[in-house]
Amino acid sequence: MRQVYLDYSATTPVKEEVLKEMLPYFTKKFGNPSSLYSIAQESKIAVEEARERVASLIGANPGEVFFTSSGTESDNWAVIETARLKKSRGNHIITTKIEHHALLHSCKYLETQGFDVTWLDVDRDGRVEPGDLEAAVTDKTVLISVMFANNEIGTIEPVREIAEIAKKHKITFHTDAVQALGNVPIDVHDLGVDMISVSSHKIYGPKGVGALYIRKGLTLPNLLHGGAQENRKRAGTENLTGIVGFGKAAQLAGLSLSEHIAKTASLRNYFIGEVTARIPDVHVNGGMEHRLPGNANITFEYVEGEALLLLLDMKGIAISTGSACSSASLTPSHVLTAIGVPMEKIHGSLRFTIGDFTTKDDIDYTVNELEKSVTKLRNISSVSKEKGW
Ligand SMILES: *Cc1c(COP(=O)(O)O)cnc(C)c1O
Repeated sequence: MRQVYLDYSATTPVKEEVLKEMLPYFTKKFGNPSSLYSIAQESKIAVEEARERVASLIGANPGEVFFTSSGTESDNWAVIETARLKKSRGNHIITTKIEHHALLHSCKYLETQGFDVTWLDVDRDGRVEPGDLEAAVTDKTVLISVMFANNEIGTIEPVREIAEIAKKHKITFHTDAVQALGNVPIDVHDLGVDMISVSSHKIYGPKGVGALYIRKGLTLPNLLHGGAQENRKRAGTENLTGIVGFGKAAQLAGLSLSEHIAKTASLRNYFIGEVTARIPDVHVNGGMEHRLPGNANITFEYVEGEALLLLLDMKGIAISTGSACSSASLTPSHVLTAIGVPMEKIHGSLRFTIGDFTTKDDIDYTVNELEKSVTKLRNISSVSKEKGW
């Protein structure tokens, strides 16, 4: 059966060039980067080369990039350790209602530790209004964390404006750039952010490796304690193969960034055009102007999203309801709720994310199957339609 993968925001396949770069470090070049003999030094050099490659993709100096186990770890480290460090100065944190669970649940945890969190609203497009953010600042505010780009609806946030506000009030600013990396040009020094989280497996690298950019001069206590790895900031023997893979993936992403953006945006626009032209009662969630190039989040009215997802899965098409992380739970997406999508429409919403291996044929096949499946489900549930939902 034909397989069509349209869930690149959940994860991506490792590119051949990336795998090829990683393989020797499993077997021949397996030395522990902390050891002193030659094969260990080769590993050490490979880690530092990967650090340069990741740094280069975000405009950082290599010394400002710290490898972690995931985007989740980077988010936890940035937010929880900044909060602990600054607690004597103030206990107020500003974030948004649409953060990834890695950030959202870190802030919920901090609420149990005596912190006050302001959860900013977003507009219908999913954007934070910088004026709202500045109005929420108090003399107790010690941290602002607003994501660079949203994983469900693809909205790109006004990170530069927010960084300016944070700087003006001398507040540490972190942004979760896991979805933005490889999809939006990022220059940390130009943006003026203090910390950003990134992850390898969203940019065609291996799973289980991420990084935290920490601006030179910023103090951030360790999350993990132990050996002297990562310039004494993140203990534990390095995930050598993972880091090498992340480095290669970052290099490739940098080389093809504008081509990648143009290709995925054009396929996404074609997809949205076809779906809205051929299937009645559908609408796109989130604004089109500030949006990740490969993201389409669409509500199919009078349809149960889970049912549609399963019918498409039977045709070999992999998509997602909202975000992969919440698909096991039945709670409606906090992101769609925040942009004002009513509950019954949230249940009919699906996320399609396009990537480097998507073809126009894949899109045509998907639109055909979508049209058939939506019609089938609407016929079954015509009673529901009469009931008005
Ligand atoms: C995937 C994702 C994460 C988590 O990254 P992992 O490496 O899977 O832990 C965090 N934030 C956003 C926006 C994501 O899309």
